[in-house]
Amino acid sequence: MVTLNSAALDLVLHQLYVHFPVPGGLVRAVDGVDICFRHQQITGIIGESGCGKSVLGQAILGILPDYVARSGNIFYRSTDILADNTSLPGFYGQQIALIPQNPGDSLNPLRTIGRQFDDILQTAGLNDKTNQRKQQLLTFFGLPDAERVLAAYPHELSGGMLQRVLCAMSICCSPLWLLADEPTKGLDETACGVVYENLQKIKTSQSLGMLIITHDLQLARSICADIAVMYAGQIVEYGPQVLTGPRHPYTQAFLAALPENGFQPLPGLPPLPQDHLPGCRFAPRCPSCQKRCLQEVPPVYDSGTAKVRCFLYA
Ligand code: SF4
Repeated sequence: MVTLNSAALDLVLHQLYVHFPVPGGLVRAVDGVDICFRHQQITGIIGESGCGKSVLGQAILGILPDYVARSGNIFYRSTDILADNTSLPGFYGQQIALIPQNPGDSLNPLRTIGRQFDDILQTAGLNDKTNQRKQQLLTFFGLPDAERVLAAYPHELSGGMLQRVLCAMSICCSPLWLLADEPTKGLDETACGVVYENLQKIKTSQSLGMLIITHDLQLARSICADIAVMYAGQIVEYGPQVLTGPRHPYTQAFLAALPENGFQPLPGLPPLPQDHLPGCRFAPRCPSCQKRCLQEVPPVYDSGTAKVRCFLYA
C-alpha cells in the first residue's frame, strides 16, 4: 500500500487564472491566485458576491465550462488536477466531494433519495445493497427515520431534511476533501442552524480537508481554522486570525461594514471583472492608497501568521 504524506494531500494553487471571454474583453474571475490549502484543515473562502470565490471552487472541482480560459496549476497528490483529474481514481466522491448550494435544486426530482445515494456510491465502485451505510449516515445527520427518507422523492422532504441528506451523500464515499459552496445562501435561520450543526459533525467525525466558500461570517468564524479573503479575483489576505486581527485594508473595511461593527460603509464599488487595473485592485477604494499602489501590483507579503497582498506590509 502506498502511504502518502499529508503534504501530498494538500491542494496547492499556483498562479491560477480563470478568465471568461465576453464580447469586447475578458472577465478576470480568478486572477493570479497562489495558495496552499492544508489537508485536515478547514479553510473558509470569503468575499463579496462576484469576487471569484465560487469560480475558484469550480476550478478545483474541474467543472469549469470548456470555453473558459484557464492557466496555472492546481497540484494534488502529485497531479495537476487543473490540467487533468481523470488519472486520480474516484476523483468525484472519494478524492473530493461537494455540498452544493440550494438543496432543493441539487437533487433529481424524479429519483428517490435511495437511488440517488446509490448513483453516487456506484461512481466510486461501491455498493450498499443492505442500505446499512446509507441509514447510518442519515441517522448520523439527524434523520432517524432513514428507511422512509431513502424511499422518498426530494419534493416529499423539507428543506432542512434535504440539507441533511446532501451532507450524508457528500461523505458517503469517504472523501479526502469536501467543498461546501455557499451552504447557507438563501436559507432561513433554522435551516442555517442545520448547516452549522452538520458541518460541525463532519468536522469532528471525519479526517478530511474542507473548503467552505461563504459570505456567512458567522459560519466562517464558528468552523474555519484559516480564512482566505477574496477581492476582485485575488486572495488579498490569508491566515488564522483574519477575522479577529485583519491586516489588509479591504478586510478591515469589509469587517467594519458588518452590523455588529457599526455598519461603516465601504465607499465605491469593486472593479468590474473586465476592468484591467495596472496596480492594486483595491486602490480606487483604499484609504491608505499611495502612488505606487496605482502603478504596481502588490505581491503577497508575510505578516505574522498572515499572508497579505498589500504594500503596507512590505
Ligand atoms: S497595496 Fe496600496 S491600495 Fe492596495 S490595499 Fe495596500 S495600501 Fe491599499
